[in-house]
Amino acid sequence: MELFPHKKHISDYMATCFYLANSGVYEEKQLFYQHVKNIILEKHADFIGYDLQIIEHKCWSCGGTGVWKKYWYEGNARYLLKEEKCWNCKNGIYQIKKISLKRYILNGSVYHIPCDESMIDKEPVQNIIQGIVKHDVVDLKEAFESFLILLWVYNRTEFYYHVKNVLKSKIQGIAEFVQNLMSRKNNDLPF
Ligand SMILES: [Zn+2]
Repeated sequence: MELFPHKKHISDYMATCFYLANSGVYEEKQLFYQHVKNIILEKHADFIGYDLQIIEHKCWSCGGTGVWKKYWYEGNARYLLKEEKCWNCKNGIYQIKKISLKRYILNGSVYHIPCDESMIDKEPVQNIIQGIVKHDVVDLKEAFESFLILLWVYNRTEFYYHVKNVLKSKIQGIAEFVQNLMSRKNNDLPF
């Protein structure tokens, strides 16, 4: 018996698919964010508040030190000519990005989706997330297949649209290959 049994918003199978599709890094990940994640969280999960993600971009000019150094090279030796405050950044930080996130709970797990900045002014932020959210490393094929399953179940229109696009690009590739082959002179053909 679970001491604090979590609420089931969707079936366990679908929740596992969601976890895998959200963790994996596959080519179509952007489509998952656009056409699956928002839909499932907004429709089925519990919204439990706003978080703020802060991403600091280090300055490339000074390597994040805040000090710009000019060197002079001779042979393999390097001599420091001068050292001054880096003008491209503030203390080595080039840019600070703040992203407002909506936090949801789905079958006992927490997930985020970015939201409009203006919404966060009205409600207090609960957590500050420093840097990029790291996902568990999962099997790429499993993650992609999970995405397809979720797309099929929760956004059928987009599923057909995606499959049509994949087929179209494959057929186009084959058509170009055949056209290329046919445009050769008969005696150039390798058969
Ligand atoms: Zn700098």
